[in-house]
Amino acid sequence: MGWNKAAEAALARLAIRCCLACLPLAVLASGALAQSCNGKPDALGTARVMALDPAVFPQVGTVQYPQTVPLRDHEVVLTFDDGPWPSSTGAVLDALAAQCVKANFFLVGEHAQASPELVRREYAEGHTVGTHSETHADLAKLPLADAEKEIQDAIAAANAALGAPIVAAPFFRAPYLSTTPSLLQYLSKAGLMLWSIDVDPEDWRPSTPDEVVERTMAGLEKKGSGIILMHDVQSHTAAALPKFLEELKSHGYSVVHVVYGSAKEAAAHAQ
Ligand SMILES: [Zn+2]
Repeated sequence: MGWNKAAEAALARLAIRCCLACLPLAVLASGALAQSCNGKPDALGTARVMALDPAVFPQVGTVQYPQTVPLRDHEVVLTFDDGPWPSSTGAVLDALAAQCVKANFFLVGEHAQASPELVRREYAEGHTVGTHSETHADLAKLPLADAEKEIQDAIAAANAALGAPIVAAPFFRAPYLSTTPSLLQYLSKAGLMLWSIDVDPEDWRPSTPDEVVERTMAGLEKKGSGIILMHDVQSHTAAALPKFLEELKSHGYSVVHVVYGSAKEAAAHAQ
């Protein structure tokens, strides 16, 4: 990955400074909560916040790309795709809040339009809101112009749900992780960071909550760290989360929350 310890430490310092300076009050309030987590000293919490610039990290996730986010051993980033979904996203947010854990959400534009209050709740509770196409189409099978429209429409839908001046993070995950070289070029030009994954619990499969926990922990044990893909549209995932977060804690994992930070912002805050 090319990150030595000094660079990693510098990035972490910048990320914390940037976040404290740039994030809105609602996020800061959640961050302050993470220190005590409602008086629960044994909560998993969010170990650190990492601000990443898409220009430096155009694609992340070792399932498809050479690099991932610069994590240490036993650090994970929790990501949730396909929502928001009225019957399950609220339970996911409740489980994360109970442990003061911040996550990264990748919204489907149509779902954001249908449940804008859940998008606002994700943001208000300090999570990062990225996008995952307008209709969950397989972008590699569309003409490039249509694929670009899927991406732009989802961002517009997320922004409309959030309400100005708040905007979605420039973080994008392709449905089915399906892309083309032309799409990679487009995303890069548009300043969007393309998120693949490191650990896939396959929670889209019919499963019991315990099976979701077992598959996720087994995948993590193999990788040691990484971006975990889950789906907040799945009720078994929502049901699995309380136990999964407990397992992360008991197995010595910590959670990293990734936010957008431009190189310019990072430089400004480094002075
Ligand atoms: Zn998806």
